[in-house]
Amino acid sequence: MTQRIALVTGASSGIGRATAELLAKNGFYVFAVARRKGRLEQIRSDNIEPIPLDVTDAGAITAAIEHIVTTKGRIDVLINNAGFGQLGAVECVSMEAAHHQFEVNVFGYARFMQAVLPYMREQKSGRIVNISSILGKIALPGFGWYAASKHAVEALSESLRGEAKAFGIDVTVIAPGLIRTEFAAKQFELLKTVKHPLAYQKIIRGLHHLLAGEPEAPDPEIIARAVVKAVTKPVPPVRHALPWDSKTAVIARWLLGARFFAWAIRQQMRI
Ligand code: NDP
Repeated sequence: MTQRIALVTGASSGIGRATAELLAKNGFYVFAVARRKGRLEQIRSDNIEPIPLDVTDAGAITAAIEHIVTTKGRIDVLINNAGFGQLGAVECVSMEAAHHQFEVNVFGYARFMQAVLPYMREQKSGRIVNISSILGKIALPGFGWYAASKHAVEALSESLRGEAKAFGIDVTVIAPGLIRTEFAAKQFELLKTVKHPLAYQKIIRGLHHLLAGEPEAPDPEIIARAVVKAVTKPVPPVRHALPWDSKTAVIARWLLGARFFAWAIRQQMRI
């Protein structure tokens, strides 16, 4: 059987790294993308090839896909995962920071999808997995711009699923809840760069309450296993939310209704 070729973005840490390693263990040849070259080199192996690039660099993405197709002849799987969380009140995050959130989390995914789709269409096969978030279907105070970017990822994925089905291409959304990676620490670093008037300090403290469970959150391998299942199962899932917090979030909002759900969140954040 021919070896399947995969590309994983955000493979230098957390979910992307765990996914790249697990795909390679499962027989895939993996192109591992992120900015930190040194980190990517740590996972280089016979079946993992690093491609250092920034997902906002359209030219570098085109060159990367050309390299993959020239050397391997095909591209079977795209895992869009590179991203970050711009924390901060909707009023206070600068437009520049908000644009950057979308440049990476939304247009970064879109650039890769547009780059691989012509090849997948020609092959009449392909799997695209977009890593969304528990905040892809709900939104919380302090997470407005991040949640907006993940809602956009969910919408693009749903549209593309309908468009690409006839070409033999499946699109899956995986929506992680809280996972122990570098993500939360980077979020709080970015939060410090946002100027909040005193009136917002309670919400800032609320974000710390909300993410206090991060050190006990599951390891990224739980998501990596879900991704590998999604690209190896004959019938891939449409949307897989995990672990339990993400699984129950949408149901809880539906059962409680928007107003009571928002009240419950404010209780949890103590705001
Ligand atoms: P990490 O911070 O550990 O990993 C993020 C990855 O994205 C890194 O490899 C980073 O690499 C890469 N990345 C960020 N910006 C860029 C860029 N401009 N160009 C290229 N690569 C970039 O976080 P996670 O593993 O947790 O996050 C992975 C995905 O999971 C994200 O999309 C996130 O939104 C989502 N998610 C995470 C949750 C969590 O609780 N951890 C919950 C829900 C969703 P480098 O810096 O080397 O470029």
